Amino acid sequence: MATPLVGMNGRELEAFFVAQGESAFRGRQVAKWIYSRAAREWSAMTDLSAAMRNRMVAEGVPVGPTTVEERHVSADGTTKFVLRLHDQQFNESVQIVHPDRLTACVSSQVGCAVGCPFCATGLGGFKRHLTPGEIVDQYLTMQHEAAGRISNIVFMGMGEPLLNTENVIAATHILNKEVNVGMRHITVSTSGIIPGIERLLAEEIPVNLAISLHAANDTLRDKLVPINKTYPLGDLIPLCKRYADTSNRRLTFEYVMLRDENDSPEQARELVSLLRGVHCHVNLIPHNPVDGSGLTASDAQIIRNFRDVVQNAGFTTTIRFNKGQDETAACGQLRGRLPARRKAPARS
Ligand code: SF4
Repeated sequence: MATPLVGMNGRELEAFFVAQGESAFRGRQVAKWIYSRAAREWSAMTDLSAAMRNRMVAEGVPVGPTTVEERHVSADGTTKFVLRLHDQQFNESVQIVHPDRLTACVSSQVGCAVGCPFCATGLGGFKRHLTPGEIVDQYLTMQHEAAGRISNIVFMGMGEPLLNTENVIAATHILNKEVNVGMRHITVSTSGIIPGIERLLAEEIPVNLAISLHAANDTLRDKLVPINKTYPLGDLIPLCKRYADTSNRRLTFEYVMLRDENDSPEQARELVSLLRGVHCHVNLIPHNPVDGSGLTASDAQIIRNFRDVVQNAGFTTTIRFNKGQDETAACGQLRGRLPARRKAPARS
C-alpha cells in the first residue's frame, strides 16, 4: 500500500509532491486540505487539478491510514469511533462534548501491555504501536464530522502513550504545527513511564501531563498498575514534582475509585502525604463497568468522602463525570474490537 498522506509533516508532503514531479507548493496545498480542513478524500481538494487528483487515486495514494468501521453515539453526545487499520486491527477514539468545547480522546497503541486489572484495554493484552499517522488520523476523522472545532486532545484512549514515545511525540508535533492544536491543549496520560516523562522534559514538549496513579503505596499500586514494579512511587513522584516545577504546569493525578481497594479515608490521607509539595490537581474517576475485571465501583458517598479529605488538605480535587458509559466509550472501557451489539453504518 502506498504511504498515506496523513502522518507526513509539511516538509515531507512537499518532498512527496516534488518526487511526483509536482511543485513543493502542491504539498503545502494538500497539507492545508488534510490538516486544516480535515479533508478525507482527494475529490474534496478542489483547487488541485482533476488530472492530478485522478492520478493519485489511480496510484492508490490514500489520504488517511484509517477508515471508520463503526460509530456509536451515547445519549450525552459522546461518540466512539471504531477505526479499521491497514492490517485489519481496530482502534478506538472518542469525541467528548463539553458545554464549552470538544475534546478528542485518542489511542496510542492497539491494546496495552501494562495490564491494569480494572481496564478493558489492559485485559485484552498488547497488539502493536500506532504510527504517527494512525494517531493523527483519529483526530482528523473526528474533526471531519464534528459540529465545531475540536480544541483539546487527550491521550487517554487505548494504550500507554509513553511506551510508544517516538510515535506519540511525532504525532504531537504534527497536531501542533500542522493541525494547529496548542501544546497546552494536548494532554498525555501515562501510568508513570519514567523514561518517557524524562524525554518530554528533555525535549521541552510542553504538553499537559496526567499520571494514572490509582494507589498511594507501592504494594497496592503494584497490583492496580503493574508497571509500578518497574517505576515505583519513590522514583515517580519526585520526577512528577520536577515536571511540574520545570514546565510550570499543574499536573493531574488520576485516581480510579475501586470499592474496598483504594477508597478508604486512610488511603485518602496516604494520597495527601504522597502528593504534598507537588503542584497538582487530583481527579477521582468513578470506575466504569468492565467485563471480567472482578473490581467494582466505589459508592458515590464514599467517593465524596474521599474527595473531601483530599480537598481539605489543600488539593484541587474533582470527581470526573463519566461520559459515554452507555456505549462503552468511557475511561477504561475501550477494547479495540468490534462490539457484538448495535452497529451504526460506516460513513465514507
Ligand atoms: S489503564 Fe492505561 S496503562 Fe493501564 S492497561 Fe489501561 S490503557 Fe494500559
